[in-house]
Amino acid sequence: MTSLYVHVPFCVKKCSYCAFYSVPYTAPIIADSKIFGSVDGADHMLLSDPASDLVFVYLRGLERELELRAKEASQGVSSLFIGGGTPTVLNASQLDRLLNLIYRYYFKALSRTDSTELSDPIRDPRIHTSRTGQVLEKTIECNPGTLDREKLMLCRTYGINRISLGAQSFDDRLLKSIDRIHTVEDIHRSVTLIRQSGIDNLNLDLIFGLPGQRMGDWQDTLRQAIALSPEHLSLYALTLEEDTPLHKEYAYSQAGSPDCKETLDGLNSRNRLDRLPDDDLQADMYEWAVSYLQSCGYGRYEVSNFARPGFECKHNRSYWRGQDYIGLGPGAVSCLNNVRTRNPEDIAGYTRILESGQRPLDPSATEVLTREQQISEFMMLGLRTADGIDTAEFSAKFQTEIQDIYGQILQNYIDRDIFRLAEGRLKINPACFFVLNAVLVDFIL
Ligand code: SF4
Repeated sequence: MTSLYVHVPFCVKKCSYCAFYSVPYTAPIIADSKIFGSVDGADHMLLSDPASDLVFVYLRGLERELELRAKEASQGVSSLFIGGGTPTVLNASQLDRLLNLIYRYYFKALSRTDSTELSDPIRDPRIHTSRTGQVLEKTIECNPGTLDREKLMLCRTYGINRISLGAQSFDDRLLKSIDRIHTVEDIHRSVTLIRQSGIDNLNLDLIFGLPGQRMGDWQDTLRQAIALSPEHLSLYALTLEEDTPLHKEYAYSQAGSPDCKETLDGLNSRNRLDRLPDDDLQADMYEWAVSYLQSCGYGRYEVSNFARPGFECKHNRSYWRGQDYIGLGPGAVSCLNNVRTRNPEDIAGYTRILESGQRPLDPSATEVLTREQQISEFMMLGLRTADGIDTAEFSAKFQTEIQDIYGQILQNYIDRDIFRLAEGRLKINPACFFVLNAVLVDFIL
């Protein structure tokens, strides 16, 4: 079955390590006449309220995309993930519109007014189950500092039953070092509000390997996170992604490129790169986290993801199993029947194309996956999970045995006890998860 992702490309401001597509919520927009109509014969106008107008353009485009593409999931969707960006940076009426659009096209028609007919919306089966009667997981990504009671009640009204909160660290000094907008106090306030709203499936995102972070800081962050009893934790090692301020800082420090100098003048003074933990310390942080979380009852079901039993993220699991997904919104990626496409990132351009009745596509990002790519991705995604790969599923899907494709390479890893093949499943040795990325390159065809 197909899962649904909706991208909300707004944030309060950009974090220094972030490569996701988002623009500041208050970014000005030069709206064009194809969207707003011509004013005094001019093709373009600068709108008066930048934040509202940019979100207006986005929501208008999203509605067109929903109209155009709802038929792609004629059997319904298996899960919903509203991500970003920061979906909760939208004000309550914008968030209401966003949720209403999604529900109108993919779930049930439900507006604020008719929600009053539901005595207890969160338990109403009409907005929680698929056509086959299964409970649907519906997640929204939130960031501390952007949540309030009204927005959470809206989420509940529309059947959101899982929240992923970008906590990242429980150390104000480290949060500041990566330009996060929130404090530890904001995390506590957000979690209290989430629990008060009745949502009982909470993920906390945390990053390790931050500039200046020591092992003790990381241990303290994890202990504070666990004290909040989240059902799920996602732990990510800080990476220097291209086109991020942190990466530019790195490029400048390596090459002394004059092009970067202007951008980096402010950043260099902070000397962040000098304080990045080395690979050994990052590996130790990961290993400590795994054993600590396991001792607290959280199982590692994927290299970066930990959950209490029964709270594994269904949406992400569907990605790792190679199932189809629909991505809506600027910059969102879809993969249906082995054709991968991406929407253009520019909000006004995205909406303009949709207003002309076309589906917006970034032509450079459309690919029909070859059989080799399908096999490689099946391996790369499946081996990241603790369940590993079902070898019978591999044979059925690709009409050949896994050993016929990978032969001696696979056998070498099994002989070295990096992979284990038992009871029809190929899995990574749990002790080797942290080096997984280095191993997986050998499985790309
Ligand atoms: S809040 Fe999240 S999406 Fe937004 S800039 Fe920061 S890391 Fe990126």
